Amino acid sequence: MAEIIDGKAIAAEMRKQIAADTNELIGRDVTPGLAVVLVGEDPASRVYVSMKEKACAAAGIYSVEHKMSADTGEAELLTLIETLNADEKIDGILVQLPLPDHIDEAKVLEAISPQKDVDGFHPYNVGRLVTGNPVFQPCTPYGVMKMLEFTGVDLKGKEVVVVGRSNIVGKPVALMCLAQHATVTVCHSRTVDLPLKVAAADVVIAAVGIPEMIKGDWIKKGAVVIDVGVNRVGDKKLVGDVEYEAACENAAAITPVPGGVGPMTITMLLYNTLLSAKRRAEK
Ligand code: NDP
Repeated sequence: MAEIIDGKAIAAEMRKQIAADTNELIGRDVTPGLAVVLVGEDPASRVYVSMKEKACAAAGIYSVEHKMSADTGEAELLTLIETLNADEKIDGILVQLPLPDHIDEAKVLEAISPQKDVDGFHPYNVGRLVTGNPVFQPCTPYGVMKMLEFTGVDLKGKEVVVVGRSNIVGKPVALMCLAQHATVTVCHSRTVDLPLKVAAADVVIAAVGIPEMIKGDWIKKGAVVIDVGVNRVGDKKLVGDVEYEAACENAAAITPVPGGVGPMTITMLLYNTLLSAKRRAEK
């Protein structure tokens, strides 16, 4: 049976270290600060923002929420971002997505100072990731890499298959694996013979958004499986993109859903905010 990669436990251990480092920085008069901008009333976004704020408070990180009404104009939002860019107490700026349709999301993300872009979505930071010299790495794929590190997976020379090519998960995680000397295959909706591709993988990273579409019997014996997918089936149940029980028969190690990658994303947001504050302290 597969080893379960416990995202909750890894996240808890990392958050303990983040809190200790934050405390040490506060002792040097640098309090890490995160500004969260929420436009509109999307209920899921509200929940995410409140989880982020609670996580900041638990780690000792100062956080401030800027709540704006759904009819906020783009110019007003850009002015707020300019103010936050210049605010010395703020190390990280996070604009909760999605934004209302009348606001140009790309323009807003590009207005955030790359030095405070703790989500890692600014094109400058994307470019720095591509060239192997990252400033901030996006939180979910970075969390995947930390889980592999904690599990003791050395990616050098390994065959990694990433299923999904989104800008927030698939593409960045592929680049991060490449930076660690894996041989990376990125699959997507037009990939021919996905089962064959997955069967060749030493490490499978699934980020599709289709419940259990990657079958357990595709997984090579001894492979490591990271399931980023979060899919609600029925009323309450959450499942991943991988057929979990069957995959456990073949995998050496696997992340569950829930309790796998999920808890890592906010942890990496705290990590990036702290990293930014450490850079400020060194200035
Ligand atoms: P997107 O919808 O942006 O991307 C999905 C990708 O899957 C696309 O590249 C798409 O290909 C590919 N795909 C779709 N159908 C198939 C198929 N039949 N075979 C192979 N590939 C396919 O999703 P995200 O990357 O944003 O998210 C992926 C999953 O991860 C979701 O379940 C999401 O909820 C979850 N997630 C979890 C997070 C966490 O914190 N745990 C954070 C972010 C996401 P194509 O490009 O060709 O359309």
